[in-house]
Amino acid sequence: MQKDELAFLEDMFAATELLECATCGEATLHAHEEVLEVYTVGTKLRMQCTCCQTSRSWIDWTPPQTKANLH
Ligand SMILES: [Zn+2]
Repeated sequence: MQKDELAFLEDMFAATELLECATCGEATLHAHEEVLEVYTVGTKLRMQCTCCQTSRSWIDWTPPQTKANLH
């Protein structure tokens, strides 16, 4: 796949993550639904499977302060 196509797909799915879905039994795209908790080392989110609409919690290990330091 071309780099441009990859960048395009990354933009398109910026708000989604490929996660294991217990209901689907495979890795599916999950959309950010709600922020449950913010830690110093990451963010706990509720993610919804785009295939079966099942919600699950997921921790994004990108430290929140990394974004805050960008200003
Ligand atoms: Zn699912």
